[in-house]
Amino acid sequence: MTKHYAVAIDGPSGAGKSTLAKLCAEALSFLYVDTGAIYRTVGVAVRRAGADPKDRAAVSRLLPELKIAMQYDDSGLQRMYLNGGDVTDEIRCPEISLYASAVSALPEVRAFLLGMQRALARENNVVMDGRDIGTVVLPSADVKIFLTASPEERAQRRYEELQQRGTPARYEDVLRDLRQRDENDRTRAVAPLVPAPDAVEIDTTGNTLEQSFAFLYNTIKERLAQ
Ligand code: C5P
Repeated sequence: MTKHYAVAIDGPSGAGKSTLAKLCAEALSFLYVDTGAIYRTVGVAVRRAGADPKDRAAVSRLLPELKIAMQYDDSGLQRMYLNGGDVTDEIRCPEISLYASAVSALPEVRAFLLGMQRALARENNVVMDGRDIGTVVLPSADVKIFLTASPEERAQRRYEELQQRGTPARYEDVLRDLRQRDENDRTRAVAPLVPAPDAVEIDTTGNTLEQSFAFLYNTIKERLAQ
């Protein structure tokens, strides 16, 4: 069996994971897997069904019916499909962030998505970003990174991103939602957001994207060569 390489990038929302992970995947010619997008797709399904995302029984009942698929378009963007429909834009709205955060605390949801994430890493060289990739999904990943930045800087980045997308929100609301999601991710009983013991921690506060990328990419290259 061919050896496939796995780079796990975990950290709180807004730390720059998806942008940096995508750039690193491109530079390495690895597949980029945004696992947050997969949780967000479950969030869309739950909202469409009118279910409470914290209601374990109600959400669990929906899971067997869900068909989640991903495909990459020509620009390398990971498009998400729910039961055949493209939900790539819908998963990015702020309300869905909160749905994703709530459903991701449910053990049934995490178990449901685990196989899909592991299969992608079995069949491809991957850079996979999320919250529990280095700890739960791919505990034997070749490189583990824990990417952080201060809450204020992460909120500022998210705020600018929402503006660019044409869906502006107030900075105070973005910061409040982000703190709420941090709290949910860190304190949940299953797969909480913690660095793996063997993860390299990188704080991107005050760095430009170029600086963070250079540091991250060099760290990954060094570790892959070991
Ligand atoms: O990274 P992103 O903000 O898109 O993730 C959406 C939500 O999905 C996060 O708030 C987090 O709660 C959850 N998530 C997770 N485990 C992952 C990826 C995302 O719990 N591996």
